[in-house]
Order: sequence, then C-alpha cells, then structure tokens
Amino acid sequence: MERLQKVMAHAGVASRRKSEEIIEQGRVKVNGEVVKELGTKVSKNDSITVDDVLIEREQYVYVLLNKPRETISTTDDPKNRETVVELIQGVEERIYPVGRLDWDTTGALLLTNDGELSHKLTHPSFEFPKTYVVKTKGRITKKLGNELAQGVMLDGQKTAPAKVNILSYDRPSDTTIARITLHEGRNHQVKNMFESIGHPVEKLTRERFGFLSTDGLQSGEWRFLTPHEVKQLE
Ligand code: URA
Repeated sequence: MERLQKVMAHAGVASRRKSEEIIEQGRVKVNGEVVKELGTKVSKNDSITVDDVLIEREQYVYVLLNKPRETISTTDDPKNRETVVELIQGVEERIYPVGRLDWDTTGALLLTNDGELSHKLTHPSFEFPKTYVVKTKGRITKKLGNELAQGVMLDGQKTAPAKVNILSYDRPSDTTIARITLHEGRNHQVKNMFESIGHPVEKLTRERFGFLSTDGLQSGEWRFLTPHEVKQLE
C-alpha cells in the first residue's frame, strides 16, 4: 500500500505537494469514490482518477532469472562489471533484484519494480524460504548437517532453524553436495554458515526462491512470472 499523493507523483500527475492540493480539492477518486484524506493509502489494483481521468499507473513487471556466475546483483556497478539487470533485454520498466546473490552464486533471482512485494519478500519477519545447493570442501556428516540445521553463531547471533540434507560425498575430490533451505537472508549467509563448521563453499546455486525454481531456464535465461505466480507471492 502506498500513499495516494506518492502514487500520483510517481505517475507524473504533479509533484507530491501539488498532488496533495489536488486531493484536498476533491478532484481525486479512488475506485469511484472521492477521497480528500491525505493519509489515504492505495494498493496497486485500485483505480485512481483525477478530474475523472484515469491515471496511468506504472506496470508492474516480475522476472525470474537464472543468474549466471560473474554477474552482480545491483542495477549498476561502479567497477563496470556485468549486472543482472543488463541480462534482461527488452523490458523497459526499471526493475531491480529482490535481495542479492553473490557475484559467483548462480540460480533463481527475482527482479521487479514492485517495491511493496520486494520489501515483503526480503523482510525477515516474512521468513520467505530460499533453497540452495552447495558444494563444499571436505566431508560433512549427517551429524554436522544437523548441527547446521539447528543453528550456528554468525556475528554473535544464532542462525534460525534451517533444513539441511546431505546429498552426496565424492571421495576423489573430497567434496560434499548438500541442500539447505533458509528462512532468513543475512549477507553471505550460506557461505558463512558452512565456513563456520569448517567446510568452505566451493560452489553455490540457489535452486528455489520460495516456490519459484530455475527449471527450464538455462544459465542467463529469464522469463516473466505468470499472473498466477504473482498472486501466490502477494
Ligand atoms: N548466501 C551466500 O553466502 N551467498 C549468496 O549468494 C546467497 C546466500
């Protein structure tokens, strides 16, 4: 939900202050009802008219990218490295990633211009699940996996309970493949968690962002979410 004058200003009706005047003059209707209250909040599906003319609201766009390695999860980079946004060709709206994946992490990354949804999905209280597959140095036993699942100390704070499955161990390369589902999203959390039990991550992929998986998307490919998927996220 956003304040009416903010939505009006964003849609290019007038500045925020001028939009407030227009509201107070009784010229604005939300879903056909005159609204004069300045604190009024509107959702993205509300129709807003000014002098009975419907205002064009920004189209919301939702894109799922299978992020390749060596791309940065920001909209631009001072060091001129390739950004994930540059991979989304043909979308005119200014979309940005929902949370971040590290430079060398691959997998499911959502991009949108829907600030409200982005805020919700990244807010710790929402506990949105994210599933990663990791390749780590050394052998991780079931017991150690369980310890990781129960929580480890990172920066003086215990991590929330996670789901950990040890998938395989490869003796020749002395590496373990594991799957971990987190409900929080601290900086470099997966890498730091495995590092804290003495098994540094060699390779990290986000397999799922909630129910969204990269199935069918090659590295660097993306697709729009379906309206049904967007509804499920909201
Ligand atoms: N945890 C990490 O350590 N890196 C990522 O990119 C995502 C989660």
